[in-house]
Amino acid sequence: MEITPEMLTQLNTLTRREFTADEVYIFRVRLCDNEIDRDGERFSIDALHELSKLFEGKTGVFDHNPSGEKQNARIFRTEVVTDETKTTGAGEPYTSLCAYAYMVRTDGNADLIREIDGGIKKEVSISCSAGSHVCSVCGKERRIAPCTHIPFQEYSGKTCHVILSQITDAYEWSFVAVPAQRNAGVTKRYDENKSSQQDSQLFHCQRLLREIEERTRKEVISLNCCQKGAGSKAFAMAAERMDLEELLVLRDELIAEQEKSPESQLRPLADKENASLNEFCLK
Ligand SMILES: [Zn+2]
Repeated sequence: MEITPEMLTQLNTLTRREFTADEVYIFRVRLCDNEIDRDGERFSIDALHELSKLFEGKTGVFDHNPSGEKQNARIFRTEVVTDETKTTGAGEPYTSLCAYAYMVRTDGNADLIREIDGGIKKEVSISCSAGSHVCSVCGKERRIAPCTHIPFQEYSGKTCHVILSQITDAYEWSFVAVPAQRNAGVTKRYDENKSSQQDSQLFHCQRLLREIEERTRKEVISLNCCQKGAGSKAFAMAAERMDLEELLVLRDELIAEQEKSPESQLRPLADKENASLNEFCLK
């Protein structure tokens, strides 16, 4: 990569002494993007801009260099790039966060630089903290109110994923030379020690919630014994589409109604007390 005077000025704001173009090696990496990743998560475009600011000046590590010792590179410029010709799985223009990093040339990193120049497959791993994890299907904040939607599953033709935003910190980035057969790309990790434990806890909670939702749905349908025929079918269909929160509200209403007037089950559907329930069914 050609080193422009502007790049030198930028990187020299981070160094203890001024470096010349001959003394440094500069390369560009894609840190992350807004595509849904292998964990069923994606960064919002705002999050990419937040990360862009946070990664400036951050030092990254090369994990697998041939000499076995760790080498460092430092990001001196970041940019958020939008490719209007490409659309992501979530239907947004493909947008990525790219970084320019420099290394000071030494005898020890000459081989590594040759490998990067030679176009070896590269994988960048970033570590950051996202304050918001929102479900793409229902818009709920999953860390506060976990919903029953599962990433990669389809709901009304839309694939569920988690949108990460409100980036609070960017801890590090590392650069890994991986064998050619592996897909090059970006892996993101955060709260690295806790994440697998949290994942299994989250998975357990989701399973429990699904179970509770299913049981509540059955209970709601059985509570609705006042309707027969088409009305009861419409009610069951409406209940199929409700989420746990809606089902619980309806269940409470049905129970309250039955307690208030046990004889209401025998009344005609036009009865005032049942009017709200009928409206619900027809929705
Ligand atoms: Zn959801």
